[in-house]
Amino acid sequence: MPLIVQKFGGSSVADVDKIRRCAERTLEERRRGHGVVVVVSAMGKTTDSLIVLANEANASPSRREMDMLLSTGEQVTIALMAMVLETMGQAAVSFTGGQIGMETDESFSKAAICAVNVERLRTALAAGKVAVVAGFQGVTPEGDITTLGRGGSDTTAVAVAAALKADRCDIFTDVDGVYTADPRIVPDARRLKTISYEAMLEMASLGAKVMHDRSVKFGAMYKMPIHVRHSHRPDEGTIICGEDEQMEKMEITGVALKQNLGRVTLTSVPDSPGVAARVFAGLADANITVDDIIQTVTGDGKATMSFTVEQADLADIRPVLDRLLKEIGGGQPRIDEGFCKVSAVGVGIRSHAASAAVMFRALAEAGVNIANITTSEIKISAIIGKADGEKALRAVHGAFGLGSEQEGIIKRD
Ligand code: ASP
Ligand code: MG
Repeated sequence: MPLIVQKFGGSSVADVDKIRRCAERTLEERRRGHGVVVVVSAMGKTTDSLIVLANEANASPSRREMDMLLSTGEQVTIALMAMVLETMGQAAVSFTGGQIGMETDESFSKAAICAVNVERLRTALAAGKVAVVAGFQGVTPEGDITTLGRGGSDTTAVAVAAALKADRCDIFTDVDGVYTADPRIVPDARRLKTISYEAMLEMASLGAKVMHDRSVKFGAMYKMPIHVRHSHRPDEGTIICGEDEQMEKMEITGVALKQNLGRVTLTSVPDSPGVAARVFAGLADANITVDDIIQTVTGDGKATMSFTVEQADLADIRPVLDRLLKEIGGGQPRIDEGFCKVSAVGVGIRSHAASAAVMFRALAEAGVNIANITTSEIKISAIIGKADGEKALRAVHGAFGLGSEQEGIIKRD
């Protein structure tokens, strides 16, 4: 019997009526003769409300107690979903993370899944029941409740799908798929029919908040097709899957804009082994996430390093830099604010030599000055002034022909 895992996010299960509408989706699959496991998030803004409550009790609650509290949100939804399914004549049984052996490590509030014991799920499915699983939560080998990080129900769903070797994992949410760009900024952005795991991960790291990024990593690792769909509209959505030839031809899949970046430049640092390791280990220890690292050796035994950090991290960075530069024996820090990053992402960049030129020309024609450039096999990024971000995004989207009606046609002169 084909097996489908369906995940419904918080906004899709915000009240019992909405839960009923999600249950209809489950029944549709049952009628097609599919076994179904349903994974749900907490209802609406429940998780946020629980965080407010926690902070009333204690300004800095322990992460263990926080997970104990936050995991209750999903437990409410699984019971209600199972009850609703029963009223529709569909036998159902709910499970917490602990009950299906969703084993994680001990990093409370951002635990990583180590194993899923699918015995109980298989038994329920074999009895013709729909199994309803609490997303976002797991349990340590000692039996303590953990959570997987905000938005983690997606990861539960893909992990369960992978462990059960399901045919597909459907993520029902409040958007109808993945777009070539944020449609609020780029009005002619198109919904993608498919996107590769790799391109989706890049888009997510650039701020396209469609899926919990660890869920996409799981999908890639276990080759589980993930279908992102709108919960209450029967649209096609977007399928996140392995690369195919069509994708290679597409060159660019989408463009993304990451706002609120600062840039750090370290000049005259010693050009000797271990310097970069020391600097970036020190920043990581201070919990400062860096990106877009560029180093140039200037030839006088010195090097220049430049990287971006989130604007919010700039406040704490100065003393850390001063300390690190002292440790490595010299260098001057410079901190600039007010940047953003526009990126073009696509597995086809590998096979299209001129992608970078197309992007830079689009920026030039839009009068956008580029501060830094970084590239990877499937991404080209330009760090630019904050005020130019939206204009640049539209220009790059247009230059790659992403708004055109014919899928995959690249407009060039
Ligand atoms: N309820 C959790 C959250 O709001 C997990 C999820 O929705 O995926 O972050
Ligand atoms: Mg949520």
